[in-house]
Amino acid sequence: MAIRRIVIQGDDRLGKRCRPVTDFNKRLHDLLDDMKETLAEAQGAGLAAPQVGVLRRAVVIAGDGDDMLELVNPEILEQSGQQTSPEGCLSVPGKWGMVTRPNFVRIRAQDRYGEWFEAEGEELMARCFCHELEHLDGHLYVERIDHFLSEEELEAYYQSQEEEE
Ligand code: ZN
Repeated sequence: MAIRRIVIQGDDRLGKRCRPVTDFNKRLHDLLDDMKETLAEAQGAGLAAPQVGVLRRAVVIAGDGDDMLELVNPEILEQSGQQTSPEGCLSVPGKWGMVTRPNFVRIRAQDRYGEWFEAEGEELMARCFCHELEHLDGHLYVERIDHFLSEEELEAYYQSQEEEE
C-alpha cells in the first residue's frame, strides 16, 4: 500500500468524466487500498479515484471506526429530503462552502470483486455519496456554492448548531 498524492483544484483530471471499472483485478485492488490509506492519512470523509489522478469510477468513504466503504461504478438509486451545511473537499484544501444536498440517498455499487450491492445513508453519509459520485462526472462542490465561507461564517454556523441541540 502507498499514499498517493491528492490532485488539487485546477488540475484537468478533476474535470473529466471517469470511465467505468471493467477489470476487477489486482490493479483495482491496489488502487482501492492506496485510496483508503491516502484518505485515512488526510483524515477526510471520502476520496474519489480522479482525486489521485486515476480516471476510473471508484470511491472510498470513511465509515464508523476503521471501516471504509469501497464503491466501484456507484450509481444513485433514490434520494429524498434536503440538508444544507458546510462542505469541503480534499482537492480544495482549507476551504468550505454551504451546499444543499438530499438528506437520504440510496446507491448501488460493485465491490472490488465485481459483486453488486446496495447501501444507503442519511445526513453526512448521504452528503458524502453525492459529493464523491459527482467527482466521477468531473464536478466539484465549488460549482454549487456562491462563495467560500469565512472563518466567522463557519464559526457562526457551528454556534447556531450548538444552540439548536
Ligand atoms: Zn471532494
